[in-house]
Amino acid sequence: MSDGKPRLVIVGTGWAGFYIAQYIDTNQYAVTSISPRRTSAYTPLLASAACGLFNFYLAEEPVRSKSRSAQKFIKANVLDVNFNAKTVHCAPAFDDDPELSQQEFDIEYDILVLAPGCVPNTFNTPGVSEHALFMKNVSDAMAVRKLFFDLLEKASLPNTPPSKVRSLLHIAIVGGGPTGIELTAELDDLAKRELRDLYPEVADQIHISIYDVAPHILSAYDKKLYEYANESLTRRRVAIETNSTIERVDREAIYLKDKGRVEYGMLIWATGNKHIPLIEQLASQTRQTTKGLRRILTNDHLRVLKPPVSDKDNHNDPEAYECVFALGDAADMLNRSLPTTAEVAVQKAKYLVNYLNHHHHQPSVISASEAVAPFKYQQKSLVSYLGAHDGVIEGRKSENGNSRDGEGWTGRSAWLAWRSGSLLWTRSWRNRVMILLTWVVNWVGGKEIARM
Ligand SMILES: Cc1cc2nc3c(=O)[nH]c(=O)nc-3n(C[C@H](O)[C@H](O)[C@H](O)COP(=O)(O)OP(=O)(O)OC[C@H]3O[C@@H](n4cnc5c(N)ncnc54)[C@H](O)[C@@H]3O)c2cc1C
Repeated sequence: MSDGKPRLVIVGTGWAGFYIAQYIDTNQYAVTSISPRRTSAYTPLLASAACGLFNFYLAEEPVRSKSRSAQKFIKANVLDVNFNAKTVHCAPAFDDDPELSQQEFDIEYDILVLAPGCVPNTFNTPGVSEHALFMKNVSDAMAVRKLFFDLLEKASLPNTPPSKVRSLLHIAIVGGGPTGIELTAELDDLAKRELRDLYPEVADQIHISIYDVAPHILSAYDKKLYEYANESLTRRRVAIETNSTIERVDREAIYLKDKGRVEYGMLIWATGNKHIPLIEQLASQTRQTTKGLRRILTNDHLRVLKPPVSDKDNHNDPEAYECVFALGDAADMLNRSLPTTAEVAVQKAKYLVNYLNHHHHQPSVISASEAVAPFKYQQKSLVSYLGAHDGVIEGRKSENGNSRDGEGWTGRSAWLAWRSGSLLWTRSWRNRVMILLTWVVNWVGGKEIARM
């Protein structure tokens, strides 16, 4: 307890952790957030920010704020949890100060929320960590914008040979899921609009390729929609290289299993998630998924499950830690797997905040299964932007997988739905106003993309 309040420790300040920090009742809890990042990224807005639709600072929210002055923030990585002693073991997170990072410490908790997310999955492909860009935080979006403009300037030098211009302006995007496709769409829009005026000699030579090991892009969508997306992008001369395996990467080229060496100027890796080391560290103390992405398993009240006592124990009513919850990409529910999306993370965070704000006085006593309704996920429509004011929307699915809203739709209305979604993702009125304002200014005077 701290000042008579239970100590609530939140690990991670992403979609799940930051939502809880924003809406938890600090009259009831002494709240500490621990994360290596002091901002929380609005990930669905990163591609737009990278391509100048609005300022970078609108794609993230600071964790420290006047409205959260009653809370503590610790810039550290959680390395381990001692569930018996109720402590989390941390290391300061300062890349430029390795000595400080070794000065580890413990933080005590009464209630623990684990929401440390995931990292991009390179599938151990040699060279990717060193040479590819990722799209997870605002710093990644900034790196994409900076490199793109550096490439355009290099291609525009009077002594750059034409063959070099072509490879400099080849944007290779690995991953044909929503992140890869939306980034393609925004970069292609930029190339076909603003850059034609800014770089008239070379803009036409920008070409984007999407590589995916799967047989088609946007595989979470119905066949009609992913086929539509394929046609729409191909029409705009985006090369879609499905069934492609990348064996390695170096500073200038990717090496495909079938096609061999392909030079690139910018390589963006958007192929999905991998667990962070903390999750592996907790393997002997928590029940975890055994297939696919490694995630901590919870019951349907989001309480972290203890590991099975034996193999046969897997299907029994599993025992949960009383005051430890997990959500977001790093967690999943036993027997009810949900995707790694912000939508799921936020819905679970809302559920947990509601629970904690109403049951703080006896979080360890309430029998979750009897007193509180379990978490129920409400499926929202899947929306992806394809560029040139075109998009796809997948109708919402019912529990049995049948579509409730028809088969989805495509075209300008899908783009409008996607664009307006940008406003809904932000959680501060200030960001919403600023994004709206920037759209109007862009519409009237064009994007101020060359400024960084
Ligand atoms: C470019 C992009 C676009 C996306 N678009 C959409 C979309 O349109 N719709 C949608 O629903 N989802 C989207 N997603 C997915 C969505 O961003 C994730 O599902 C969501 O971020 C998961 O939330 P989280 O809180 O679990 O993890 P994150 O948001 O990743 O946050 C994890 C937090 O934990 C911190 N952390 C990491 N390790 C540690 C540690 N050891 N100790 C303490 N803290 C730690 C991190 O710094 C971070 O603060 C997108 C993702 C990306 C990358």
